[in-house]
Amino acid sequence: MQGNPRAVEEVVHNTTERGAIHMAESITVMTTGGTIATPRDYRQRRLSAKDLAEALNSSDQRITDAHVAWKDFASRPSNAITCDDVLSLLDRMEKEIAEGAKAVVITHGTDFMEETAYLLSLFWEYDQPVILTGAMRSAGSISADGPRNLEAALRTAESPRAQGRGPLLVFHDKIYATGEISKVHSWDTDAFAAELGPLGTINQWNELHFQRETIKRKTLPRPTSLTEPVALITASMDTSEAMVDALVSGGYRGLVIQGGGRGSLPPRMMEAAKYAADNGVHIVIASRCAFGGTSPGSLSPGIIRAGNLNGVKARLLLLVAISLHGYDRDKIRETFDAH
Ligand code: ASP
Repeated sequence: MQGNPRAVEEVVHNTTERGAIHMAESITVMTTGGTIATPRDYRQRRLSAKDLAEALNSSDQRITDAHVAWKDFASRPSNAITCDDVLSLLDRMEKEIAEGAKAVVITHGTDFMEETAYLLSLFWEYDQPVILTGAMRSAGSISADGPRNLEAALRTAESPRAQGRGPLLVFHDKIYATGEISKVHSWDTDAFAAELGPLGTINQWNELHFQRETIKRKTLPRPTSLTEPVALITASMDTSEAMVDALVSGGYRGLVIQGGGRGSLPPRMMEAAKYAADNGVHIVIASRCAFGGTSPGSLSPGIIRAGNLNGVKARLLLLVAISLHGYDRDKIRETFDAH
């Protein structure tokens, strides 16, 4: 793609990557905040959708062939995004699709991107692409990665080959399934990883290469709210019963414990977990290892294993399962078995 006119905020006719002439389709970009929208001087106001559009527009190359509608959803760091915000974001995204958008790109802080990404994978049931992206370096820093990540996200969103793959994260020229990703580096621009690797890549000429299919799981009905008290804790050497007991007496009825290896806990913590499970608290054991998950089979009749889900994702799935099924353990176990 070369030269002006640039397509941001414009409707243009153009060629698809397969070469056919078509009426350019529309993509909605929705901003939520994060480093991608943070000026170099962090005391200044965070960038709005309009600012991001202008910044991209100031480049001398065409960023996308599609018409782009830029919209603000929130202006927050991702540590201040709640699960209920993600439910509202899903409502907004659905509205955009109902009104004719062919894809939605969400800009988001990276620190808690994993949670939003996983929730999207549980609930997004449409073929239209939803693409998450963000940045590790603030807008305006000399090596800002946000503009390129956003360009790659828009290019992926407009590609017919992104259709039907479920929600995607486009970051550092890699395309991931959002249900699989974790932030694995605190400052590197290549900050995300998935155990099975990316689904594909997008190179500097904006050519997409998919090397595998998304592993599809049945989407879940969307609860109206996700505010049940469900905690995530990590076992470490010699951890006693104290954390489990304190959370249970503090009203938590769902607890995810990241254990060692395939899910082992120090003995006193395990006793407390079994006791809590026998007394109506939903206990899920995940692995504190980055990859591999827990072993199959039962640890104790009341305890659920998270399988391949890490603690962060297992906590969200438990929260969703409790919100959908109350405290019906069989239903909760079925939800974990299916995901
Ligand atoms: N603190 C930021 C956030 O998660 C970090 C980032 O966006 O990379 O909102």
